[in-house]
Amino acid sequence: MSNYDLHSHSTYSDGTLTPADLVERAARRGVAVLALTDHDDTGGLAAARVAAAEHGIRLIDGVEISVTWRGRTIHIVGLGIDPDNAALQTGLAATRGGRIERARKMAAALDGLGIAGSFEGVQRFADNPRMISRTHFARFLQQQGVVKDVKTAFKRFLGGGQPCYVPQEWASLSDAVGWINLSGGVAVIAHPARYPLDNAELRALLSEFRDLGGVALEVVSGGHKPHQYLSFAAQARQFGLAASIGSDFHSPQESYHDLGSLRALPGGCIPVWDVLSSKC
Ligand code: AMP
Ligand code: MN
Ligand code: MN
Ligand code: MN
Repeated sequence: MSNYDLHSHSTYSDGTLTPADLVERAARRGVAVLALTDHDDTGGLAAARVAAAEHGIRLIDGVEISVTWRGRTIHIVGLGIDPDNAALQTGLAATRGGRIERARKMAAALDGLGIAGSFEGVQRFADNPRMISRTHFARFLQQQGVVKDVKTAFKRFLGGGQPCYVPQEWASLSDAVGWINLSGGVAVIAHPARYPLDNAELRALLSEFRDLGGVALEVVSGGHKPHQYLSFAAQARQFGLAASIGSDFHSPQESYHDLGSLRALPGGCIPVWDVLSSKC
């Protein structure tokens, strides 16, 4: 097991634990270094920092930025960012900006299917009104008994190509990497196996990302099958990228991979924390 977990979510985006409860759980599960990486928002970091000091674990300030690259949604994690950086905050505010309008469109699509009240309903699941995500809609649909779980809500309603999917133009790859670098952080491509990219497209993404100043690839991820770790480790090496580990934990009820439950990096990787510590 690794005692690094550099990808996790709290109630400041689509996680179900508060930052303090998330940090407490991580400490209890043996995580020594945790990054809180909420989607497009850094509001949870201050409370997470207080809790990390209390529980004796190291917190890395993080964020997971939504990006549109060649028409696909890609997630870029920033680690070791400065949440007070103005360029980063302006960029994140712009990235979040369309979420309310998108939520209205998703709610209208659900209305059209005879599922009423979702716009108001999701507010009950979204502690941070700036960060309404599809996950909150999925939880609403589960609570209403429309689907048995969050996964099914994505499969039937919210995932790409499903009737309530609303395409969104997120940040550009170059902007997201730029904001992370400007704020002193390192940029990491999150869960590369989760994107609908063929091999050639993935290679193009890795090379463009590296040329823009990106640093690492999430090799060991809660979104990956263990047999994929070695091939992503090889791709990271090939493209001169360091390697990261993150469970992408969202919720004790919903996540398959708990905090700190992932394996160590395969041999031959440059751990992203070596890059982070050389910057500090
Ligand atoms: P959004 O940024 O609003 O498009 O929401 C994206 C979030 O939805 C991701 O960060 C995941 O937490 C969640 N998600 C996406 N696809 C699935 C899926 N198939 N099953 C469960 N959760 C998903
Ligand atoms: Mn999420
Ligand atoms: Mn993600
Ligand atoms: Mn994530």
